[in-house]
Amino acid sequence: MEIAFTKADKLKDHPEDSALGFGTCFTDYMFNMDYSPEKGWHNARIEPYGPIQMDPSTMVLHYGQSIFEGLKAYKTKSGTIQLFRPNDNLQRLNRSGRMLCMPELDQKMVLKALKELVKIEKDWIPSEPGTSLYIRPTIIATDPYVGLRSSHTYRFFIILSPVGAYYPEGFDPVKIWVTTDHVRAVRGGVGTAKTAGNYAASLFATELAHKEGYTQVLWLDGVELKYIEEVGSMNIFFMIGDELVTPELNRSILAGVTRDSVIQLAKSWGMKVVERKISIDEIYEAHDNGTLKEVFGSGTAAVISPVGMIKFKGREISIADGEVGPVAAKLFNELMAIQYGSSEDPFGWTVPV
Ligand code: PMP
Repeated sequence: MEIAFTKADKLKDHPEDSALGFGTCFTDYMFNMDYSPEKGWHNARIEPYGPIQMDPSTMVLHYGQSIFEGLKAYKTKSGTIQLFRPNDNLQRLNRSGRMLCMPELDQKMVLKALKELVKIEKDWIPSEPGTSLYIRPTIIATDPYVGLRSSHTYRFFIILSPVGAYYPEGFDPVKIWVTTDHVRAVRGGVGTAKTAGNYAASLFATELAHKEGYTQVLWLDGVELKYIEEVGSMNIFFMIGDELVTPELNRSILAGVTRDSVIQLAKSWGMKVVERKISIDEIYEAHDNGTLKEVFGSGTAAVISPVGMIKFKGREISIADGEVGPVAAKLFNELMAIQYGSSEDPFGWTVPV
């Protein structure tokens, strides 16, 4: 499919790398493509970033039929640009789409479009350590209709946002809050899809956590309210004794690309990695008997996010005295080194733009 290009009349000023936060600044161009049952995906185009005009009855605004992805482009020391496991994100986008009754994208075509967009916007990619270009592919339901069914038409778009270093002053272990009053997703629901409603569903409990002085919610399973699922919008890992343990993918957890990278990397170091059910009670027991060494989250935004404190049913426990454990630190450094091209990529995870 040909990708049309419309030049912007005027380009924006670029912010300083040091002033970058997350998700507030967007580049000059975006990719757009439309879907209709008659034409399939069509009208692929790169055009100036700007508002999407839509009818107030547009389906996505009412029933949340929307999916998205989050991945990054990194500038290497030598100035080349690379993506981290983009095919895994595009595969997950199609998986999410199937769950939300949306038409599949041609992964090869989309990767080509994504690379083309990033190439046009290469000067927007910051180069300070830890900075990157966040990529947000999204599909929304566009039928102007307020009856409940899946839409017949869709818009796919990709927007780009330069983002700052997640830890400009070094790791900052987070405090997490466990609740049995709220769940993020349930088995048989859409927790495994990266769809808007899951994030809307997480807001209320997250605000409660903030009010209590905690950064993130530790989500328990939606059936027994006993087993650990995720932390905030990250997957979670525990070092218990000499095993790295993470909740098994159970039909409500989002299968993180970073989660999979952590598992593969730790196994390649000879570590024992186990995917299984883990109850919150087991974590407290492991803490009490001294075998709980580290807890950390994994995700595209922070890569690795150490957990320093957990609160459950009124009892707060401190992990590794609030310090960053050696496994979290090693995983963070090695994943970053692969992403920024400063070390070998034995897994073939990076894709040049
Ligand atoms: N869980 C949820 C709910 C998420 O939103 C994310 C971020 N995509 C993750 C886990 C981590 O996934 P990834 O490593 O692919 O960023």
